[in-house]
Amino acid sequence: MFRSIRWRIAIPYMLLILLAMAGLVLHLSKLVRGAHLDDLEAQLTAEAQLIEDALTSSPAWDEPDGDLDPSAQHYAELLKARVTLIGADGTVLGESHEDRAQMDNHLYRPEVQQALARGQGSSLRFSRTMDYEMMYVAIPLTTEGCVRGIVRVALPLRQIEAHVARLHSVEPVEMDRQGLFLQVIVTPLQEAEPQACLIILQDLTRVRRLETIRRDFISNISHELRTPLASLKALVDTLRGGALEDPPAAQRFLNHMETEVDALTQMVRELLELSRIESGRAAFRLEPVVVADVVLPPVERLQPQAERAGLQLTVDLPGDLPPVLADAERIQQVVTNLVHNAIKFTPSGGMVMLSAESIGEEVVISVRDTGVGIPADDLPRIFERFYKADRARSGGGTGLGLAIAKHIVQAHDGRIWVESTEGQGSTFSFTLLTDRKGDKRSR
Ligand code: ADP
Repeated sequence: MFRSIRWRIAIPYMLLILLAMAGLVLHLSKLVRGAHLDDLEAQLTAEAQLIEDALTSSPAWDEPDGDLDPSAQHYAELLKARVTLIGADGTVLGESHEDRAQMDNHLYRPEVQQALARGQGSSLRFSRTMDYEMMYVAIPLTTEGCVRGIVRVALPLRQIEAHVARLHSVEPVEMDRQGLFLQVIVTPLQEAEPQACLIILQDLTRVRRLETIRRDFISNISHELRTPLASLKALVDTLRGGALEDPPAAQRFLNHMETEVDALTQMVRELLELSRIESGRAAFRLEPVVVADVVLPPVERLQPQAERAGLQLTVDLPGDLPPVLADAERIQQVVTNLVHNAIKFTPSGGMVMLSAESIGEEVVISVRDTGVGIPADDLPRIFERFYKADRARSGGGTGLGLAIAKHIVQAHDGRIWVESTEGQGSTFSFTLLTDRKGDKRSR
């Protein structure tokens, strides 16, 4: 895959985008982290000033074995922060979170030194006492210009790291409309010096595709319901508006309404059928079946319709086809859907041919037509529920026939696919396992 010309052009661009994103994320994380740290420092300084103001009259500051633990715990509880009250000589007089008897002299803590020198100090570092990175802010407690102690308030940085982490996940690398969707997660490594980051590339193409299918399903079902319901409403209004007084016209309107109701009923029936097959609730009885027995009845039923449409409908079955393992009724439904489509999408004068051949352990059954064909862009989605190629919109139908066919074939451990050229025709093929292995199964 990576050898194609498209990839060779795309890869250098992707690398450039990744590098640019990594740089941007690093830069942004630094900015955001810096802004949050400034905010936190201002908040802690204001809190330390409040404590200083409240405790300035306490005599414990001036006693050699003064105990300010209750005050430290009280303010820590109020502010949801760690509070340490330090004497002028660096002795810890009050501590909210630890046993101060175990704490060493705090005079040379950087924030304490800064507070003594400049009236306020702050420091970011790993706290061995608390076991995580903290921001410390300290201010001196003074009386008439004389330093009596230091008030220190601290908070862990986990909240700030969480804010910065939100920046780390970045998505915009999407290649080609129907193609690849890659998610890039760039995470700066905090501990790395010089700054480095981890880049994770995740292929979300399948997830994106499923999301699109789900969105389309909802919008399609709304569209499919809205059109016949609007038509029914208009017919009822017309009848009410006077058409009832004109019996031949009323009869025409009623026929029209019946057609719409039948189409809605058919759609609901097919949707239920599809959901039963998809969820595995539909029972499949696989047994050895002669291929002619599953393909000829639907073709015979559709022959009059083909003739009315001016088409030649033919069947070509070799005489030596082995029996296949199939639920005959379900496979007849697949053949009906494929042949019915071929008739619908082939203009008068064309041909529809059903053929089968035995290849290895499988029999491949194909329905070929000389019809309008399917645009290349639509081909990958043609087996999705409600999907209709634009050209076919006017052809009526629910857009469920191929989805049902796909699920039935898959429940037989078979494959179904289409080859088509717009304007020239289409060939739908599916496989069934032959009974050579003799493994009769029942689902
Ligand atoms: P429906 O025929 O009810 O619209 P299907 O699921 O059977 O729904 O088919 C989905 C779409 O696939 C059709 O609307 C049409 O666009 C396209 N399609 C299916 N069979 C053919 C075909 N033989 N030739 C051209 N287009 C086809």
